[in-house]
Amino acid sequence: MKLSAFGRKFTADAGITSLMDDLGNAMASGDDLIMMGGGNPGHIPEVHQRVREILADIGGSDEGLRRLVGIYDPPQGEKQFIAALAAMLNREYGWGLTPDNIALTNGSQAAFFMLFNMFGGDYGNGQRKHILLPLAPEYIGYADTGIEPDLFRAVQPEISFTDAHEFKYRVDFDAVEVTGETGAICVSRPTNPTGNVVTDDELARLATLAREHDIPLIVDGAYGTPFPNLLFVDARPSWDEQMILCLSLSKLGLPAVRTGIVIASAPVIRALSGINAIMNLATGSFGAMLAEPLVRSGEILSLSRNVVCPFYQAKMQRAVAVFHDAMADADCRWYIHKPEGAMFLWLWFPGLPISSLELYQRLKARGVLVVSGHYFFPGLPEDGWRHRHECLRVTYSQDDERVAEGLRVIADEVKAVWAEA
Ligand code: PLP
Repeated sequence: MKLSAFGRKFTADAGITSLMDDLGNAMASGDDLIMMGGGNPGHIPEVHQRVREILADIGGSDEGLRRLVGIYDPPQGEKQFIAALAAMLNREYGWGLTPDNIALTNGSQAAFFMLFNMFGGDYGNGQRKHILLPLAPEYIGYADTGIEPDLFRAVQPEISFTDAHEFKYRVDFDAVEVTGETGAICVSRPTNPTGNVVTDDELARLATLAREHDIPLIVDGAYGTPFPNLLFVDARPSWDEQMILCLSLSKLGLPAVRTGIVIASAPVIRALSGINAIMNLATGSFGAMLAEPLVRSGEILSLSRNVVCPFYQAKMQRAVAVFHDAMADADCRWYIHKPEGAMFLWLWFPGLPISSLELYQRLKARGVLVVSGHYFFPGLPEDGWRHRHECLRVTYSQDDERVAEGLRVIADEVKAVWAEA
């Protein structure tokens, strides 16, 4: 089979593809594995209950069912949901949105594909622009989205130690370079894989940089504010015309409905809707219709604050306590990134005698699936920085007992690695 450059680029061994294959094969092996590798949200009974009630309401009327499955929405997305979301965000935050500022996509992953290629790549006249990721490590799902190669430039973070076994990444503004070749800046907040939350001050400085260079600041709020609010520190929800805020229903507990939400200036939304029409004809209505009553009443915010956030925060606290306990007698340096949000512990083992990929393989052989940290540095040139091979991402969204068991195996294996060294 002969493929075009596009065909070759998107069928080459992408980091995310090999990672998903490996996780999928391991799961399909039938072994009793402890899954701490993916980004699947947990199952929250209160969320399921509301979904069940709303589904019954929709399914109970002919008109509801017709809207749910029987009509194509416009490429911008389901109109009633968009109107309700604009009204709710204006009421809560005074953002001054109109429905022209919101588009829906089939999952936020699809929005990133469109946005990165709208602002990065070939501009004609020989000009090529990159997407700047000001704080590595960043979400692996960005890595292979560029139609053109080398779409991303990432910046190594500052590391500060926040406790005996805790550290935090911060944006190194001295190293962040926005140039005429920068098409957009992008940060995930909270960050997958680290659980870091870029501070309000850092975000404001990035927004200033974006404004000065008249480029968009893309904020990936898949775990963030205003919903689903997997946030354990304060983070102000913010939006202005320079910002492209991407939200998602996935981490509320609805990953299968594939609903991404983009809030941006009207020209960005028009462009995105045009691309969406070509790629998808229309965005699926299911997520929008399910979430519309929650958005209209504002319940999506209280559910996020009072149910979803505490669910993950309690899981995080239990996971941290278990790992501290399991590492108490360890004779090596180890740190957890300050867990400020999302659903991951990012573990750092400075000076680890083997690479994080080897550690991942040894853990897999013991029935524990995590993700090697080296995948999460898209756009950062290979410069011999050891740190990127010393970290693991561990998901704690699943059953607490299993997570605890997995964390004990990780601690045991790390100690074994050092004992062999
Ligand atoms: N952004 C981040 C940081 C993520 O972790 C994910 C999924 O895990 C996504 C975006 C994409 O999510 P979805 O396409 O389900 O909205």
